[in-house]
Amino acid sequence: MNPTELYSVLQSELDQFEKAKTYKYEVPLESEQGGRVRVKGRDAIMLASNNYLGLANHPKIKEAAHRGLDEWGFGMSSVRFLCGTEPIHLELEERIARFVGCEAAILHSSCFAANEAFFTALYANDFGQTDFEDVIYSDQYNHASIIDGVRLCRAVAKQTASKLYRNRDFAHLRQMLEEDRSQNYRIKVIATDGVFSMEGHLAPLPELVTLAREFGALLFVDESHASGVLGKTGHGTPEELGVHGQIDVVTGTFGKALGGASGGFIAGRRELIEFLRQKSRPYTFSNTVPPVVVTASIAALDLIETDPGIVTQLHENTAYFRQEIVNAGFRILEGTHPIVPVMLGEAAIAQDMSRELLDEGVYIKGLWYPVVPKGEARLRAQISAAHTRQDLDHAIKAFKTVGKRLGVLES
Ligand SMILES: *Cc1c(COP(=O)(O)O)cnc(C)c1O
Repeated sequence: MNPTELYSVLQSELDQFEKAKTYKYEVPLESEQGGRVRVKGRDAIMLASNNYLGLANHPKIKEAAHRGLDEWGFGMSSVRFLCGTEPIHLELEERIARFVGCEAAILHSSCFAANEAFFTALYANDFGQTDFEDVIYSDQYNHASIIDGVRLCRAVAKQTASKLYRNRDFAHLRQMLEEDRSQNYRIKVIATDGVFSMEGHLAPLPELVTLAREFGALLFVDESHASGVLGKTGHGTPEELGVHGQIDVVTGTFGKALGGASGGFIAGRRELIEFLRQKSRPYTFSNTVPPVVVTASIAALDLIETDPGIVTQLHENTAYFRQEIVNAGFRILEGTHPIVPVMLGEAAIAQDMSRELLDEGVYIKGLWYPVVPKGEARLRAQISAAHTRQDLDHAIKAFKTVGKRLGVLES
């Protein structure tokens, strides 16, 4: 293919996406991110962001970002080991490690980069041994960044086996671990999202902790949708399920509840984190998290730790919305997470409904095949502490109006 032919192939692929209704349209926001945003000249209640604690435009976070800019400047123009480390980077690493219940942490530019880094750095070493095989047990619904991390790792470290267990099915995982006893795998990691973002379901962490101990594996949990969200004081899925401090490796993002800007981390034992400082390629060869993001992310942790009311507000809003949307006659996936999937069945209905809800002042996104199984199309509502009771009532009312109009609800 010459370039002209290539571009024409790309264009016909794009046309295919449109036809298959998998084309991802981006709607520009005309305001800052928040509980309400401006879209197409009107206000809309934002039910599609990961801004769970409403920190994306919180006055204290903005103030901390300004302070970071004034004190530390805009950029570092460097990677960490050359000249990109400041006391604030070290402080954020210490703070996030403590927050997720681990000894130490290492920042990355995103959680995507952190997840790719972890597996590749750990498994691409023979540690002076010959004739060994390593293994990763991964939940089938894990985030794309874990999947890509495992893929990259297998490309680099060919002696690594990767195995999928059924979503949250710890009995299936146990069966695999038992079958593998005779294999004598060297390094074993069990990898899971803390919260699965299409369903808002939680990983069965207590059972996974038990399995990891019993079979001599490391337990790796990606807390991107859970840090600042779950648990009485927002410390995540392990707090919610009573195993805080018992997870070997925790990764997560500062791009969701914890301020919402960007940046990711890996937390775990000190030896592991120091090893990653030497061997993580996205850490060693890619720029440092900028100072404004670091100071504002520290402020996000400060806020969560000093004002428990923010997390409580999120939990109250979530319980209220879950209750009222069911009372309105919709079917949801039960749970406690602020991700509330409203199940609609057919993709076309989810598409029409999300479009008409925007006209009613509610910004929400639909998910359909191939992102979720066929016939399980849904609208995914994401509740925030920034929503007022009026916002949530308005959203419920709009759901009822549009649901009746489209025949999803009986009128
Ligand atoms: C959002 C998300 C990521 C990616 O985080 P970034 O910091 O935006 O790269 C990784 N893992 C999970 C489970 C996520 O939900």
